[in-house]
Amino acid sequence: MKASPETQLRLLELADLDAELARLDHRRRGLPEVAEVAAIDVRDAELRDAIVGAETSEKDLAREQAKAEADVGQVRTRSARDRERLDAGQVSSPRELEILQSEIASLLRRQIVERREAAQHSRDALTAERAELATRREAAAARRDEALGELGEQTDKAADRRAGVVTQVPDDLLALYERMRAQHGVGAAALRGGRCEGCHLTLNTVDLNRIRAAADDEVLRCEECRRILVRTPESGL
Ligand SMILES: [Zn+2]
Repeated sequence: MKASPETQLRLLELADLDAELARLDHRRRGLPEVAEVAAIDVRDAELRDAIVGAETSEKDLAREQAKAEADVGQVRTRSARDRERLDAGQVSSPRELEILQSEIASLLRRQIVERREAAQHSRDALTAERAELATRREAAAARRDEALGELGEQTDKAADRRAGVVTQVPDDLLALYERMRAQHGVGAAALRGGRCEGCHLTLNTVDLNRIRAAADDEVLRCEECRRILVRTPESGL
């Protein structure tokens, strides 16, 4: 493949811009605020489920409490009725049993009330934590969006410059560059001081002599990494 030395140098600009774009993309995906917001969302989902659980539990206990209140009422009514009959001399004394039944019913009701209060407290604490989390998320999301905005601007600038450079590279050379970039991450590298800057290997004398003998417009490849090797004034030839 043939391309003028100037055109070949455009490939180094392209490689620099692609490296910058990759760096910006890496920074965007690695933003601590992105991870922070994601972690908050995970915790928020947990809290939402826990609140639903506490509310369900509270409703169930409210029903149990209503039933227990009815039981207590029933025992008291029965007790009062029996006392009347006892006073009227109609029954023998079941007083101790009545007292025991009444105490058990009250105790059960008390236990249900306590469990219900615990469920209410749990729901309130979870709801408060969720509200606090929402505030933190808002702040983290604002910081994230600001950072993303800055990175986006830098990315747009680099992409614009890249688009400008691409127009100066013929299609076949650009296709080769893109193929190498897809395979190795970097499509073109400079030859500097007898060394390929792509794979960082120093070329042997045979390869260097071959490059010295090659025409200026010959598109060269590194024998080691196959990337497009671009000659510069610092190539050490
Ligand atoms: Zn190389």
